Amino acid sequence: MKKVLIYEKAIEEPTVCPRCVKEFMERPRPFRSLIDFMEFEVGFTMLGIQVWCRRHNKNVCHIDFQNNAVAAYMDSQKDKKKVN
Ligand SMILES: [Zn+2]
Repeated sequence: MKKVLIYEKAIEEPTVCPRCVKEFMERPRPFRSLIDFMEFEVGFTMLGIQVWCRRHNKNVCHIDFQNNAVAAYMDSQKDKKKVN
């Protein structure tokens, strides 16, 4: 079983905007990578968490927690947990 380091980068499959991918592949660009090209905004919503493409003003992914409690590890909470 792989060890997951909660506060380290653990992304195995990046979330991408299909429109950004298409544009990135179609034309010469000054961007080093697709990740640099995409402009995402990520945040909690009434349903769960959403990834929004700012470049295209479109939803990329909206994860619905379906009223289930989920664990979230916020870096800002890391120090508080050590105290408790
Ligand atoms: Zn996009």
